[in-house]
Amino acid sequence: MDRGFDIKLVGGKVKRMRLNPQAFFISDADAQRCTFHLRGASGIRPCFRCKNIVAKGYGEVDPHGFFKEISCSQYSQLQISSDAETFQSIDHLSTIRTAKQLDNFEKSCGINFRPFSFWNDRVQRNRLPPSHVLGDPMHIFWANGCMSAEINLFLAAFQTNVGNIDILITSLNGIPFQTGGHKGHSAHVKRMLSAKLFQGPLYKGSARQCSSVMWLLWYAIQKLLIGRDILVKEIQSFSAAIDICRTLDRFTYSTEVVQNDINLYLHQVDRHQALFNVAYPDDCRPKHHARYHVVDALRLLGKYLHCEPHAPCMIS
Ligand SMILES: [Zn+2]
Repeated sequence: MDRGFDIKLVGGKVKRMRLNPQAFFISDADAQRCTFHLRGASGIRPCFRCKNIVAKGYGEVDPHGFFKEISCSQYSQLQISSDAETFQSIDHLSTIRTAKQLDNFEKSCGINFRPFSFWNDRVQRNRLPPSHVLGDPMHIFWANGCMSAEINLFLAAFQTNVGNIDILITSLNGIPFQTGGHKGHSAHVKRMLSAKLFQGPLYKGSARQCSSVMWLLWYAIQKLLIGRDILVKEIQSFSAAIDICRTLDRFTYSTEVVQNDINLYLHQVDRHQALFNVAYPDDCRPKHHARYHVVDALRLLGKYLHCEPHAPCMIS
């Protein structure tokens, strides 16, 4: 491992990689799962960072209240595993002798046993410990993320309770929005409001489009719906999501993030999660929980890191 290892890039080019004495890994959940052999949503413990977060349905059977389901809306209730505790579980996996016991322990600890995995290397593992594996906010929020769910769940509720979503889309297409960096603004807005992107449980546009559509939809909600006593729970959830968008926009353009910023962010995520659970009780996704671990990166690095290759498109 000290000599490094080869990574094959898209296009076939091979690059030699070597870890710094202290490395960080920022990615979407799939890359985390593949790289560190995590069980993810298929485990009883879907979050490898929290020792008391369990999949939906498992929290209800705990008479002591230690375990919380993945839709838990209080950061203060999360029990974060130390790196030493995670390594202890991995070391224990290597001592299990029967396939059934191994499967049971893998499910409950959320990590699959692979003898040659990085975290099984007792010398190298501290260079990239679990606490340095960070979720990417672009995937958590914008690319098939929490905000993608917020958009399509709201529109589905609108369709069920108010009328065809074309009412909202048509009204938005008729407003002369100005978009930064795009000359033909109407075509750009029309593309991100294409009906096919609103089908299914998640908004299907790009991360950049998703962040813009949140604001467009919030504008339409305020113009057309607020004060009409319809979709009250859904609008409360959407409004709380917009508060988070506001904070993330500020983080994106800040050179540092301080403790007060983190406190505000956590308060907003707690509030949104509670309101989301009321509006959409069956629709919480692992990415809703993953938002809490964005704090790991903010604390460790004092910065808001994400994988988005460009600044978000600003709409005024
Ligand atoms: Zn967690």
